[in-house]
Amino acid sequence: IKCIGILTSGGDAPGMNAAIRAVTRAAIYNGFEVKGIYRGYKGLITGEIAPFKTQNVSNIIQQGGTILKTARCQEFKTAEGRKIAYDTLVKENIDALVVIGGDGTLTGARIFATEYNYPIVGLPGTIDNDLYGTDTTIGYDTALNTIMEAVDKIRDTATSHERLFFIEVMGRDAGFLALNGAIATGAEAAIIPEISTEVDQLEELIKNGFRKSKNSSIVLVAESPITGGAMHLAERVQKEYPQYDVRVTILGHIQRGGSPTAHDRILASRMGAAAIDALLEDQRNVMIGIRNNEIEYVPFNKAIKNDKPIDRELLNTLRKLSI
Ligand code: ADP
Repeated sequence: IKCIGILTSGGDAPGMNAAIRAVTRAAIYNGFEVKGIYRGYKGLITGEIAPFKTQNVSNIIQQGGTILKTARCQEFKTAEGRKIAYDTLVKENIDALVVIGGDGTLTGARIFATEYNYPIVGLPGTIDNDLYGTDTTIGYDTALNTIMEAVDKIRDTATSHERLFFIEVMGRDAGFLALNGAIATGAEAAIIPEISTEVDQLEELIKNGFRKSKNSSIVLVAESPITGGAMHLAERVQKEYPQYDVRVTILGHIQRGGSPTAHDRILASRMGAAAIDALLEDQRNVMIGIRNNEIEYVPFNKAIKNDKPIDRELLNTLRKLSI
C-alpha cells in the first residue's frame, strides 16, 4: 500500500472532520500518500479526487460537517457502478480506502471489498450510535449534548405554561439518543423503537405525572416507524386527554450540526489513527471500534448485522427517576 483514499458517506456527523484529519495525518506520518475523495462513493464514480497534504486538514478538528462533503449514491449499489468506482481507484493509484459513515456506508464497503478483494477500513460516523462493536460512534456525543441543550430550553417554557411536550429526536432504528437524552434532561419518558411496550405505558405514565401535580412533562420520542413519531403520539394523547395542553417539537437537523464535543474529537482522532494501524497490520474489511476504552477491529459483518442492544439498566434508571 502506497496511497490511501479517504471518504465520508451517508448522513453527516460532527467529528467527521476530526476523523479526516486523523486519518490523513497518521497516514502521512507513516509514509503513505493520501487522496481525498469528495461526496462519498459518488466521488469514485465522478472522479472528484484530490491529493491531501497535512495542510488540507489544518484547522478543521473543531468544525462540524465534513470538508469532503457527503452524498448518497444509488449507482454504488449496482455492480456496474462499483466497477466504475474500482476503475477510478486503479487509475488514481489508490491502494486502500478508509470510509467514514453509518450502516449503509459500511454495507457498501463490505460488498465492494469482497467483490474486488480490496482493502477497506471503516470508521463509525453517525449520530445514531447504531453500529455494533463500539461503545459510541463519531457524532453521537455531540448530538446528545445538542439535544440536552434544546430540551433544557423547552423545559423552561413547558414549566411556565404547565404543558406536556413530545420532543422528537433522531434515531430511526436506535433509541440511544432518546433514552440517554431523556436521562440527561430529567425527562419523564423515552419512546424508543427497541421497546414498544413503552408506548402502552405512556398514558399511565402521563396520568401519574399529572396526578402528582408535576408542573410539566417531557417525553422524548425517537423518530421511527415503530414509535410513530412525536406528532402521532401527541395526537393520540391529546384526543384521550383534552384537558392537557399538549405540544410537539421536532428537533430535526439541528442535531446533526455543530462543533464536536471533546469526546467526539478524541474518539475520531483515536479511531482515525487506528485505521492506519489496521492497514499497516494488513487488516481489511474491519470497522474500528472502541469498547471499554480499547481499540477493536470489528469485522464489517459483525458491525452491520448485529443489533446493538439498549442497556436495560438505563431504561430502569429513567423510570425510577421520573416519578
Ligand atoms: P449511512 O452510511 O449514514 O447509513 P446510507 O444508508 O444513505 O447512509 O448509505 C450511504 C451510501 O452507502 C449509499 O448512498 C450507497 O452509496 C452506499 N450503500 C448503502 N447500502 C449499500 C448497499 N447495499 N450496496 C452498496 N452500497 C450501499
